[in-house]
Amino acid sequence: MIFDAHCDVLMKLWQDRSLSFYDGASLHVTLSGMAEAGVKVQCFAIYIPETVPEEARFTVALEMVDIFFARIIDAFPSVKFVRTRRDIDALKKEEVGAMLTLEGCDAIGVNLVKLKTLLRLGVASVGLTWNFPNAVADGAWEKRGAGLTAFGRQVVALLNEAKRWVDVSHLSEKAFWDVIEMARFPIASHSNVHRLCPHPRNLTDEQIKALIEKDGMIGINFVPYFLTAKKSEAMIADVLRHLDHICALGGENNVGFGSDFDGITETVAGLGTVREYARLVNELYKHYSAEQVSRFLFGNFYAHLPE
Ligand SMILES: [Zn+2]
Repeated sequence: MIFDAHCDVLMKLWQDRSLSFYDGASLHVTLSGMAEAGVKVQCFAIYIPETVPEEARFTVALEMVDIFFARIIDAFPSVKFVRTRRDIDALKKEEVGAMLTLEGCDAIGVNLVKLKTLLRLGVASVGLTWNFPNAVADGAWEKRGAGLTAFGRQVVALLNEAKRWVDVSHLSEKAFWDVIEMARFPIASHSNVHRLCPHPRNLTDEQIKALIEKDGMIGINFVPYFLTAKKSEAMIADVLRHLDHICALGGENNVGFGSDFDGITETVAGLGTVREYARLVNELYKHYSAEQVSRFLFGNFYAHLPE
């Protein structure tokens, strides 16, 4: 069983009205692929492309929520909406769970009601920024590198109260530390190890240790240029290097996977779609016990759901 903490299928379905989630040829994650690979829970991110004008962003977020329910949940009897551990426990053997997440608070502007509305619609995890700055904080590409704004603190307080994950992937380092200080349920849904691949999107050892200390989660992603700085192709072995490193820092119970499938154009050799998760699983069994493998693939993210 696999729990994958991040994919961008919703954006592709939003861009192409005729694309089928069942077996769409341009999708990395499809329902048929999930079933084949044993993905039990998949997180689907609402990500608003920067090309969408500011005043249209909340509407686009709602359109993606609509697509999530209409074209992923309602369209297939075997796909169930899940937000909590109880929802996941209720899944039957042949059913898979779809979880709704937000990647970047750009859609809410400076309006907490918009965020509350998205939470009521079932958003389980909220990423505060993408790579750019917004009203909540600066993203990883913003040179200013500012932390949480006063509004950003209100957002995190609201997420604490609503018992939802605060996702630090894409945040500036300063904002990361602000979140670590105040978030009850911090995760990095799709972030790798800076020590192994120095990139502003990756987490330093100090950040990884802080997430472990807060009993948060880190989802390793399958983005080639976050896995290796080498010119050669990224391999499944690189994914394992990042996993090994987080475990060596004491994160064995705080690590899982957040593929970033459908948010990437280049893929890891042998790990090009959700179907190929099986190859990663085989590789994991060569290096870890069955109990460890099941926690990396599913149990750790599941156990860290706030409710
Ligand atoms: Zn992302």
